[in-house]
Amino acid sequence: MDLRLPDHLRMLRETVARFVRKELIPLEPMVIRRECERGLADTPLLDPTSEHHLKEETQKLGLWGIDVPEDHGGQDLGALAKCVVVEQMKYSITPFVIPPDSPNLYLLSDCCTPEQRERYLIPYARGEKTSCLALTEPGAGSDAAAIRARAKRDGGDWVLSGTKIFISNAKKSDFIIVLAVADAVPGSEGGITAFLVDRDTPGLSIPSSFPTIGEYHPYEVHLDGVRLSDDQVLGPVGKAFGPVQKRLSLRRAEIGARCVGLAQRCLDMMIEQARTRQTFGKPLADRQAVQWWIADTYREIRITRLLTYALAARIDRGDADIRRDAAMLKVQATEMVGRAVDRAIQLFGAMGVSKELPLEYMYRLVRVYRIVEGPSEIHRWIIARDLLKHGGEGMAHEY
Ligand SMILES: Cc1cc2nc3c(=O)[nH]c(=O)nc-3n(C[C@H](O)[C@H](O)[C@H](O)COP(=O)(O)OP(=O)(O)OC[C@H]3O[C@@H](n4cnc5c(N)ncnc54)[C@H](O)[C@@H]3O)c2cc1C
Repeated sequence: MDLRLPDHLRMLRETVARFVRKELIPLEPMVIRRECERGLADTPLLDPTSEHHLKEETQKLGLWGIDVPEDHGGQDLGALAKCVVVEQMKYSITPFVIPPDSPNLYLLSDCCTPEQRERYLIPYARGEKTSCLALTEPGAGSDAAAIRARAKRDGGDWVLSGTKIFISNAKKSDFIIVLAVADAVPGSEGGITAFLVDRDTPGLSIPSSFPTIGEYHPYEVHLDGVRLSDDQVLGPVGKAFGPVQKRLSLRRAEIGARCVGLAQRCLDMMIEQARTRQTFGKPLADRQAVQWWIADTYREIRITRLLTYALAARIDRGDADIRRDAAMLKVQATEMVGRAVDRAIQLFGAMGVSKELPLEYMYRLVRVYRIVEGPSEIHRWIIARDLLKHGGEGMAHEY
């Protein structure tokens, strides 16, 4: 069994790594400064000129649409390639995402009708339109089945009402995928259903936002009698959970890659500092406490990278049930990167907590990862529930 990436992915990795060092790392001081200066406002951390430049450069390098299917105008390299790219991109804290942001892509690919494909999927896949997912509500976060947003049948239309909170990117999205409980219709008992809602649809408003730890600034999305035709229903009525779960699993693979990239940066910084910083006449590298931080961070990165690639490979293989592996990776990766950043800060001392270095930004950034896309406790529950139901035997057959 060869655990090395194939040559084309190794080349892709090198291309992205060069781009990150040339373009993203130099922007970090600007990102840190803009984050301090924006206070409670939702000012983007990348200025529009830099964002435009990064889009142009990544397009020139052929990095757009890595995992977009060929018939949607993409490169069809799959989830593993996407994770390889994301891992390298997250070596830097500069918050730039190469279009399109994948998880909604998979949801749209699975569910779009031919008309929706032309109107939403293709422009989204080309990076011409942006979108977000609105699931969470004041009374339903981890427990997604408890959502109260309603889609009532009225004449031949749907009328959506409810409130969504903590919705990332809502303000800059061209369309929002909204989850709501739909009335029964012929052929369906109703239930949780996905709707494609253009941001400028009458009745949809974004009244407030949530300045949040780190770079995040999600929004409240209010739906007040939003009238939609059947054309705006994404997938079968009452059956949104299956495709949404797949979307969430893909996001979890990508979060694994993000955490590996960030932790790798911490490790490289720790090694460099340990070699050069002298205390009491000796480099930090000579101290056993420091050696253990470095050894443990390396060990945990290796484990997490393997789990990330393994999950991505399962997604590319089309394996049906990847929820347990996605849950396992989400816990492992997000807790691993928290430990890595914490050790790096400790090793750097005062410089570690200063805004001279990207570590304090990372420290706040990664804290969110243990909550978004499902808190660690829910993922541990998913793993345990699955094992207790099916037993833990025979897992070697996975390989
Ligand atoms: C920055 C940010 C961006 C976000 N972006 C989006 C977005 O784009 N779209 C969207 O729909 N949502 C988004 N969310 C919401 C996010 O998905 C939810 O916060 C998350 O699912 C947890 O829900 P909750 O916050 O309501 O916590 P709750 O469900 O209230 O849970 C609180 C805590 O209780 C514990 N807990 C809950 N249930 C159990 C259990 N069964 N067993 C053990 N412990 C339990 C966990 O520790 C959990 O952290 C975002 C959140 C943040 C912070």
